Amino acid sequence: MQAAAGATPKDAAAVILLRAGTDKSNPEVFWVRRSHRMAFLGGFHAFPGGQRDASDAETRVENCEDGETAAMISCAARELFEELGVLVARGAETLTKGQRASLLDDLESGRMTFPELLRHYGLQLDANDFTFSGRWVTPPFSPKRFDTWFFLVNCPAKQEPYVTGDAELDAGEWIAARGAIERWQRSEVLLVPPVLHALKTLGEGLTDDLTDRFLSVRQAHGEPVRRIEFRPGFICFPVRTKTLPPATHTNCYIVGSDDFVIIDPASPFEEEQAALASQVDELLNEGRRAREIILTHLHPDHVGGVNALVRHLGGKVPVAAHQLTAEALEGTIRVDRLIEDEELIELEGEPGIILRALHTPGHARGHLCFYDERTGALVTGDNIVGLGSVLINPPEGKMSDYLASLERLRSLPNLTVLFGAHGPAMGNPRSKIEEYIAHRLEREANILKAVREGAETPKEIVARVYTDVHPKAHQMAERAVLAHLEKLEAENLIAKRADGCYIANDTNPSAS
Ligand SMILES: [Zn+2]
Repeated sequence: MQAAAGATPKDAAAVILLRAGTDKSNPEVFWVRRSHRMAFLGGFHAFPGGQRDASDAETRVENCEDGETAAMISCAARELFEELGVLVARGAETLTKGQRASLLDDLESGRMTFPELLRHYGLQLDANDFTFSGRWVTPPFSPKRFDTWFFLVNCPAKQEPYVTGDAELDAGEWIAARGAIERWQRSEVLLVPPVLHALKTLGEGLTDDLTDRFLSVRQAHGEPVRRIEFRPGFICFPVRTKTLPPATHTNCYIVGSDDFVIIDPASPFEEEQAALASQVDELLNEGRRAREIILTHLHPDHVGGVNALVRHLGGKVPVAAHQLTAEALEGTIRVDRLIEDEELIELEGEPGIILRALHTPGHARGHLCFYDERTGALVTGDNIVGLGSVLINPPEGKMSDYLASLERLRSLPNLTVLFGAHGPAMGNPRSKIEEYIAHRLEREANILKAVREGAETPKEIVARVYTDVHPKAHQMAERAVLAHLEKLEAENLIAKRADGCYIANDTNPSAS
């Protein structure tokens, strides 16, 4: 068994903040929406929290024997104060709103660390105010990983949380736990698994066994989550693959409810194939039906587990893909049905999902994306990913097609989330696609400039333009440059000489 690679999880804490005097049968909790500008989980709803900092170990916490727990309580209290202005400390009850704002300013401006601030104002954290409610580790498919301690905290009666202008959050509000779940069920919000679990747990009421229920799942004890439902009807199931670094996993998506399709069973590794098979079996045992195995495109890190899953399902579930993918895979994977552009795949159940297939070449000739018009969810395959970058490698890759595909995706009327083949879902679809397009156009402008200045080969161009890329990745960058050069040549901006070198058609320096 190989260990799953990926980033090492960093310590973090989050606060499940309960409203004072809330209805015990359906308590109100404060959730926040992460800024659309955030690269990681932008647009998601979450609880206040963040990464542990060096000063957290210096905070003294009453009724807490264990140093690590004390530091994590300090982290939770500090983040809650920084993000929502709520100070949960003994002695804080006598402070006015203005005094708390001035303390917050002391902290944010760096005049005092959190432990210094507590000492200076005679405040004391108490472990009895922070009920441990689980420790969740971000799965290894993510660029950023956290080992997050969750604490249930009662909001002090005289304090009202507000988003403090922290650039990381767009908004925050009190919401009844079951109301929050309903919003998730209506596909209006995106949630990570621990937040969904917390809301479901609170939705059953503030009972005596509340903590036990919080801790009743293995994932609340640090075991990475495998089945991730950022949205109902879209299960993200990352499997380990031999993909391009920094990614270590490819996301398989199981989409639908009564009827479901399995998109990109990707892993060539037996234990990963077995994990996916048992997830599919679990759904089948619930009486659901596996309609099809669908391939976004031909690359090995997307199709490595197809034959194993077909065998596991007794050969009864057909494989579907674009014709160009089917032709490329002939002899290795049998494709039973061809999917055409704009074809609708209707999946029965609740929620009913209608996927529109979009032929979106560029990364691969037969690449398909799948769009659920009702909820605005888009399965993007390798066209847009939540981790790493997309390689356009000629001749399979074609830059002009890729940009046209990105434009097509950008024009979809109601985009709300991108489910990429690598990394977490993206809740900021428009800014993500625009960032992708802008990035490519900027590269292209720089490549054209380099050719105009006399760089003649992909190698020379990479040396000038890809100064931000590690030399180890230069060979890959040369393939990407070649894709840009082919596009520029087709647009008549440059020409390829008989010796294979490139020259600009317009060498007028004022044009650059
Ligand atoms: Zn690919």
